[in-house]
Amino acid sequence: MMPFEKCPACGNEMIEKEVEKLLRGGNNTAALKVHAEVCLRCGERLYTQETVRKFEEIRANLEH
Ligand SMILES: [Zn+2]
Repeated sequence: MMPFEKCPACGNEMIEKEVEKLLRGGNNTAALKVHAEVCLRCGERLYTQETVRKFEEIRANLEH
């Protein structure tokens, strides 16, 4: 379930897309493909809580 149906930045409709997210921790970088809601007008991206949690985990691991 996404928390927003409309872009919080510009109010345009958002569509679900697979996007590449770069995560940096310490000297390391990880690129992963995740699903996000993307605004077609301004490019705003929204991630689910589950995805954000995954980012945090990966970032924490990168810092080691
Ligand atoms: Zn927007």
